[in-house]
Amino acid sequence: MEVCILPLGEVDEGTLIFLSEKLAKIFGSARVLERSKIPERAFNNLRMQYNSSVILYSLHTPGGCDVVLGVLDDDIYAGDLNFVFGEAELGGKRALISLFRLREHGRAREEMIKERALKEAVHEIGHVLGLLHCKNRMCVMHFSNSLLDTDIKSWKFCERCLRKLQRSNDDTPCTASGGM
Ligand SMILES: [Zn+2]
Ligand SMILES: [Zn+2]
Repeated sequence: MEVCILPLGEVDEGTLIFLSEKLAKIFGSARVLERSKIPERAFNNLRMQYNSSVILYSLHTPGGCDVVLGVLDDDIYAGDLNFVFGEAELGGKRALISLFRLREHGRAREEMIKERALKEAVHEIGHVLGLLHCKNRMCVMHFSNSLLDTDIKSWKFCERCLRKLQRSNDDTPCTASGGM
C-alpha cells in the first residue's frame, strides 16, 4: 500500500521525512508529495482556525496513492470541537493531521512531537482503512481527547484492530511490526 504525504503550507522537513520512513515500514510504502497550499476558504475568521473537513475534502488523490495524508502546522477544528488532531475519510482515501497541538505544553521535544505525529498519522490512516475507535488505551485507534491519551497509546494497532484490517483487505500488507 502506498501512503502519499502531502505537506500543506509550511511544515517541518524533518517531521515529514520521519513520517515517510515510519509509515513506509508500517504500511509498505510511503513518499512525500510536493508541497501544496492550504485552501483559503477553509479559514474561519471568527475562530482563527482552519476547518479540517473543508481541507480534508479538498485533497486530491493522485494516481498511485492508496492514501493521501495531508500534514499541516496550523490549528484545525471540526464541528463543535475546539480543535482536532486530525480527521479522516472513513473507508475512503484521504486523511489529515495537524502538528499544531502536538507541541502544546511548551517543552515538548522534537522527538516527542514526531512520535505524536506518527501516532496521529497511523490513527487517521486506520480510519481510512475502515477502523473505528478502539477501547484499548494502548492501541493507536484509541481516541485521543488530549495529548495525555496520545502519549499513553502506542503507534501500533492492537491484535483486534490488526485482525480487522487483515480481514477487510487480504492483499494489503499491514504489519504493525518493526521499530518505532
Ligand atoms: Zn479517530
Ligand atoms: Zn485496537
